Amino acid sequence: MIKFTDLELDSNVLSAIADAGYQTPTPIQARAIPEALKGLDILGIAQTGTGKTAAFCIPIIEMLSKDEKSMALIMMPTRELARQVIDVINQLTNNGDKIKSACLIGGEAMRIQTKQLSNHPRIIVGTPGRINDHLENNKINLKSCIYLVLDETDRMLDMGFGKQIDQIFKYLP
Ligand code: AMP
Repeated sequence: MIKFTDLELDSNVLSAIADAGYQTPTPIQARAIPEALKGLDILGIAQTGTGKTAAFCIPIIEMLSKDEKSMALIMMPTRELARQVIDVINQLTNNGDKIKSACLIGGEAMRIQTKQLSNHPRIIVGTPGRINDHLENNKINLKSCIYLVLDETDRMLDMGFGKQIDQIFKYLP
């Protein structure tokens, strides 16, 4: 069975994983993390509660810690899911110690999010509508965003986010 220590992760990432209380990778993590670290595209399917969030957050944080210019964009259909993902990212980055993130969701003041964006976050988490609002206001620069996660893609498409997602893709390199 693969261990986190077999994955040759940065020591800060490994200690954050240990602090989170994760002892061994869950099956989706064991399969996805090594492939993601090779830079491959992944389509992952797993139930809620199987460690899917950390399966994409761990390799993203690892890759961003190795290449200080790169950024990641993580989109999901709901605010609740965005908050859950940002909690995992905060846990794994030691609350944004070296890698800052921003959470862009509807129903929250634009001003607070614009302030987060002015700190040059390297991980953008959010729902497509609000991400688009900030893009249209030139508040996000995605030119160095080379990692993209579509979380619960099926649900995003069912909810009619397809057009918004296509619009966001135009800003990605
Ligand atoms: P998720 O499927 O992403 O919603 O994760 C479900 C729960 O599993 C969360 O509470 C995580 O903190 C926890 N978790 C994720 N990865 C691991 C792991 N490798 N070992 C133990 N718990 C984990």
